[in-house]
Amino acid sequence: MVYKPRYIRTKEIVGTALITLLVLSISQFMKFTLLNKIKAFRGCDNWGCGSFGASRGEHKHKGIDFAMAENDVVLAPFPCEIIRHGYAYSDLSYKLIEIRGLRSYSDYTAKIMYIKDFAPVGTIINEGQKIALADNIAARYSTTMTNHVHFELYLRGKLIDPTNLF
Ligand SMILES: [Zn+2]
Repeated sequence: MVYKPRYIRTKEIVGTALITLLVLSISQFMKFTLLNKIKAFRGCDNWGCGSFGASRGEHKHKGIDFAMAENDVVLAPFPCEIIRHGYAYSDLSYKLIEIRGLRSYSDYTAKIMYIKDFAPVGTIINEGQKIALADNIAARYSTTMTNHVHFELYLRGKLIDPTNLF
């Protein structure tokens, strides 16, 4: 009887390890391609932080911000179709596109904003291919803002945190 607790513990550890491996392999499968090739995020500057849920006064930041210089190539995070063109602000100064994932990514839609030079609605883009060029959002605020492209992800229409998918 002395050894029984140890036996159960070993079984639990093996079980936990198997579940962890399973979760890891699934999350590995669903990894997205970085919009900026290198894993560089906006971090925090005088205008706020680029992380999901960061404070924006009365509301919270709904996406994550990739640090990018103006005219840097923005890559498609997953195979997708451009389903809408729009504007980030009511003054129409900065543009956005909405994309819908294809095949195993079909439950995802995303908004990518502060971009230019993108294809018409209906265009299909493969993962990791050019989807747009980064615009200069810092010019709207100040040179103390890290220029960036905003990525906002929805799973079956519900806003989710995309941080761990990159
Ligand atoms: Zn943002």
